[in-house]
Amino acid sequence: MTSTTHNEPPSGWVEPEPSPLLLLLGQASDTSSERGVDCPGALPAPSDPDLVARATRAKEALGERVFVLGHHYQRDEVVQFADVTGDSFKLAREAAARPEAGFIVFCGVHFMAESADILTQDHQKVVLPDLAAGCSMADMAGIDQVEDAWQTLEEVGIADSTIPVTYMNSTAAIKAFTGRNRGTICTSSNAETSLKWAFEQGERVLFLPDQHLGRNTAVMKLGLSLEDCVVFDPRKPGGGLTPEQLRDARMILWRGHCSVHGRFTPQNVDDVRERIPGVNVIVHPECRNEVAVKADAIGSTEGIIKTIAAAESGSAWAVGTELNLVKRLASQFPDKRISFLDKTVCYCSTMNRIDLPHFTWAMESLAEGRLVNQITVDPDTAHWARVALDRMLALPGG
Ligand code: SF4
Repeated sequence: MTSTTHNEPPSGWVEPEPSPLLLLLGQASDTSSERGVDCPGALPAPSDPDLVARATRAKEALGERVFVLGHHYQRDEVVQFADVTGDSFKLAREAAARPEAGFIVFCGVHFMAESADILTQDHQKVVLPDLAAGCSMADMAGIDQVEDAWQTLEEVGIADSTIPVTYMNSTAAIKAFTGRNRGTICTSSNAETSLKWAFEQGERVLFLPDQHLGRNTAVMKLGLSLEDCVVFDPRKPGGGLTPEQLRDARMILWRGHCSVHGRFTPQNVDDVRERIPGVNVIVHPECRNEVAVKADAIGSTEGIIKTIAAAESGSAWAVGTELNLVKRLASQFPDKRISFLDKTVCYCSTMNRIDLPHFTWAMESLAEGRLVNQITVDPDTAHWARVALDRMLALPGG
């Protein structure tokens, strides 16, 4: 399926104001992060009026040899070329189900392309149009930091009774750590099931790397208390926690967060309720717990889409997730009043790095026989990451 929509926001859409801080983000690349460096190729100019036609020609020339994946948070200008849209795990599985496609062009971020490489066959080459498209959350859990933290748990004598549960939004190295240490991966859709499984295997969970998804799921779905959760800060000795705090905890939450969802505040919820009487507030579980408890509903990216699609015509929704998706929802459902939860712009700056010039460059390079920006995971890391992913797939509903 090729999406051909390039939607304009409906007339009622209120454009959030630009946030200077976020506009500044994404102006540089960091070689020490999970993402790579800037695109090495000669990019076409963004002003080139033929970019859509050029990308279309390259895609047609590649035919079934290419399969284009578009994450929900991507810009419309690249989503229009996606053969399928979805969240990261759905996209990786879709790629694995298309073995005839030798090239998987992933319009998303680095960890997603890694997951696609892990799940696809050897002859399938995964391409990230801009190597600098990383994820700040994934960057918050470096493998050395996580290994050090595990050593701390061993010294305290609780590693054997602790099960790692790692969110999809993590590097392949962290997923492999999880596989080696009897843990499982989770998505924002199945975090509750994964945590229930983990508590059947051990006394406590080390949740990586998003503290908010871990806390929200433990407290709001499993009925644990906030006091059952502690935050492990990798920048402090012992995570900034005493051995007693670590032993007493049910949830050891890694000190990581999403720079997009972490920006929403309880005040945003109060403000939108005042602005739009009767509005339903729905937020992603990567939002802070103080925001989640004030919302009417919590949903993964796919959950938010389904909830809004099924909502009554005329209903009003304030959505706390990435702005590209919220704008697209507002365009797709003009019979509903859909607003962004914040008043200022909140794009994922690294997701936004995949733009039409990078996409066109990658597609034309492939069409000309040049494999560019391939993302690969070494066999040992891929094996153990796959072990953790397979544990998740074996869970009910996996
Ligand atoms: S939206 Fe958040 S979790 Fe997703 S890629 Fe961007 S920073 Fe990472």
